[in-house]
Amino acid sequence: MTGNDDEWVPVDGELDELPPSGDTPPWYVDGIRFECSACGKCCRNHGDGYAYVYADKAERTAMAESFGMTRKAFDDKYTERVPGGRSLVSKGDACVFLNDKNQCGIYEHRPRQCKTWPFWPELLEDRDTWDEDVASFCPGVGEGPLHDFATIRRTAREAGS
Ligand code: SF4
Ligand code: SF4
Repeated sequence: MTGNDDEWVPVDGELDELPPSGDTPPWYVDGIRFECSACGKCCRNHGDGYAYVYADKAERTAMAESFGMTRKAFDDKYTERVPGGRSLVSKGDACVFLNDKNQCGIYEHRPRQCKTWPFWPELLEDRDTWDEDVASFCPGVGEGPLHDFATIRRTAREAGS
């Protein structure tokens, strides 16, 4: 995680702690309201850097088993090698598992990347990034329950692990 010069940047073990007094806290220190309305937009390619749905070996194994497939067969059918790892393939502009009701067809076994959206470290880096890369298209931002600072930090840590 990075930040600008006057913003407190925690080290790994301090992710869900508040910054020392006197330091500038992250912009989301008071939490963020968010509730997914299941519109499916974040499962569609919406710009450079969001084309891939990364899934590690354990995640692909779990997905494969849910279909009664071997991981090899699952990988061959539903994934592709991409820079940085292996991604679920796309169907048109959407993830292959986004169904025609805009729902995730593999929700219980969706990858960590999907479970932790939108609290990814790179999206939380500053308010402009959040506004541009999340709030501009996700109707869930500003709605629903308040996710407090510690929860956001924990999710971001999970996303980045
Ligand atoms: S874009 Fe936002 S509201 Fe729509 S499915 Fe994704 S997280 Fe949910
Ligand atoms: S796995 Fe599910 S939640 Fe993740 S991008 Fe694909 S359809 Fe969306």
